Amino acid sequence: MIAIPADAPGLSFGPLYDTPSYKFLPLSEMYMKDVVVSADNIILPVGQGLQGSLMAIDIARVSIASGCCGLMQSALDTALAYSANRKMFGGKNLDLEGIQWMLGDVATDLEASKLLYRAAANALGTPEGPVMAAHAKRFVPDAAVKAANTCTQVLGGMGLLQPYGMDRLSRLAQMLRIVDGTTEVSRVVIGRSLQKRAKSLPPLPIPKGFGEG
Ligand SMILES: Cc1cc2nc3c(=O)[nH]c(=O)nc-3n(C[C@H](O)[C@H](O)[C@H](O)COP(=O)(O)OP(=O)(O)OC[C@H]3O[C@@H](n4cnc5c(N)ncnc54)[C@H](O)[C@@H]3O)c2cc1C
Repeated sequence: MIAIPADAPGLSFGPLYDTPSYKFLPLSEMYMKDVVVSADNIILPVGQGLQGSLMAIDIARVSIASGCCGLMQSALDTALAYSANRKMFGGKNLDLEGIQWMLGDVATDLEASKLLYRAAANALGTPEGPVMAAHAKRFVPDAAVKAANTCTQVLGGMGLLQPYGMDRLSRLAQMLRIVDGTTEVSRVVIGRSLQKRAKSLPPLPIPKGFGEG
């Protein structure tokens, strides 16, 4: 929540990590030692930084879910364009019901993902914002990994070749399961909200002696 100029004394960076599938996102360690900036660099009023950074994380989680939808659409369109053209057994690959079912499942996951990330985006800044962002971050990147793998499978051996770009989508989708709160950390957030909800429900009686000893 404080803007630090890249040339600020005391700020330094480690060497760039080798990131084969996302060169667009340069990645390295960042070190700060006795960095001093002017008060003008404080972005949010003092005392609101933590709240602001948590909100920023929620926005990032929803953005990742939205990006995953683009990734899924791209994988689906590649698989459709390929299988509608690939001749086999006197017809086209896309004529096979099994292939339609595989791609149909990807399409359903994509529609569900779009609804979820949009609902999470609408909830940003409300008390439901963090858990809705966690739902989106938990569900959508998982669906994207599945979609990228399924669509690769539909292309058969060609799916592994670079020009079709499917391998890159798979690795990118996996990366999106990790950044800005892993799938597991999203589950932790969701689990805590379930515990809160459980507290608001009337307790169900448990028979005396059940499960004791
Ligand atoms: C491309 C990229 C960009 C990044 N950009 C940034 C950035 O800008 N700023 C920044 O600060 N960080 C950044 N990161 C780091 C990223 O936030 C972390 O990699 C991520 O939060 C996971 O932390 P970790 O790698 O230390 O994994 P670990 O914390 O070591 O976790 C290892 C595994 O254990 C699981 N795990 C952890 N806790 C639990 C639990 N309670 N229950 C069950 N499983 C659990 C995790 O989900 C994971 O699968 C970036 C990472 C990548 C790959």
